[in-house]
Parts: sequence; structure tokens; C-alpha cells
Amino acid sequence: MTSIRNCIAWNMVDMGKLVWQVAQKDDVLRIKWIHSYNSNSWRNDSKKYTAKEGYQWLKGQYEVVGWHHWAWNRFNVPKDAFMSWLIALGKVRTTERLKAAGVCNDVSCLLCDSGTDSCMHLFFRCHFSRIMCTNIMIRVQIRVRNDEYLYTTWKKRGRRHRSRKEQQICCTALASTVYHIWIARNHSLWENAVIHPDTVVKCIKQEVVGRAIIKMKDSWPDDVKNWVTDLAG
Ligand SMILES: [Zn+2]
Repeated sequence: MTSIRNCIAWNMVDMGKLVWQVAQKDDVLRIKWIHSYNSNSWRNDSKKYTAKEGYQWLKGQYEVVGWHHWAWNRFNVPKDAFMSWLIALGKVRTTERLKAAGVCNDVSCLLCDSGTDSCMHLFFRCHFSRIMCTNIMIRVQIRVRNDEYLYTTWKKRGRRHRSRKEQQICCTALASTVYHIWIARNHSLWENAVIHPDTVVKCIKQEVVGRAIIKMKDSWPDDVKNWVTDLAG
């Protein structure tokens, strides 16, 4: 397997060299032909081709998003991370999106029946999801402000935890919360019954603490270990 990876890597480097020749407009017939169809945005006369620069060029420019700590935190349960990513992109299939696609007409929130089944409402403007979210925030010692959007409070206050581990576990709690809100929403859709918020909160706490304990190492400070244990209470 390693030799295959090496082979692919070397092929990529060779390809990069060819691309560099294209950028430099080397006096080769095939390069001239390519230039008749391509732009020369990578061309830089002051440098020679390097694999590193070839990789950077291949990767391109991309936007740095504010939610990556939350969605792609290494403590997250993978299913929570995936759902967080979809929610951050607004890609989950709420009935608001399905209506836009002509699939359904009723867009009422399936949890509170007084809002719209949309990402914006479900996370965390919905009365039902606010109860769950607020409960978990208090548990991870994030002081809730009524005048602020819960996600904003979580982002600002979660960073004020003393240790990096605590901050990561706060992000794990947020990822687990949004996942379980989505599960509760789906339960309402398919079973026509709303799960009690306390039941959902209990599941979130068990998942977060269980995950933190799996990742915990002997080298962690005692106060962080105790903080994790207290989350289960
Ligand atoms: Zn609602």
C-alpha cells in the first residue's frame, strides 16, 4: 500500500513539473499548444518549480470558516461531526428546503409547531431546542445570555475555558447537541411524537462524557478530568 501511495505521490510531482513547464511557457510544441487554450495565472519568472508550490497551487485558495473548530474537532463522534458540517453549510433536508424543491407544502417546525422547519429555526431559535441547548451549556459552564443567539454565546464563552481540552469538549457537546436535535426532529416526523427534552439532554451528556473518557489520557490535569466527570452529573 505504501509503494502505491509513493507511486501516486511521484506521479503528482511529475504532473506538477509539467504544469510548471506550461506556466513557464517552455519552448516545446505541446506546451505552446496548451498555452493557446490556457491562462498563465501560476507563472512566476523569479522561481523554479517546487513540489511544495505545486501542491499549494493545486489546492488553491479557499475560505477559512468560523465553524471548523466545532464541526471538525477531533473529540467529536464522527456522526455528530458530519451532521454539524451539513448544518453549518445549511444542507440538511428540512421541510423548508423540500418545499423549495416542490416536495411538500407544510413547513411547520416538527418540535414546537410555532416556527419553520429550517436550520435557522431548529438551531437554536426553536423553543424545544433552546431548552436542550441551554441545559447542556449550563452543564459545560457556559453562561447563557437571553439577548444573544445561543450559537454566538457558545462560540464566545466556550473559548474562555481555561484549557484547550475543555474548549474541545465544549465543541463536542455542541456537535452532539445539534445531532440529537436533528434526531429528535426526525423522531417527531416519523413517530408523530416529540421526545421529552430531558431524555435528549441525558443522551447528549452520556455521549459527550463517554467520548471524553475514551480520549482521556493519564497526562491530563486532574482538574480537567474532574470537570469531565462532573459533566455526567
Ligand atoms: Zn420549533
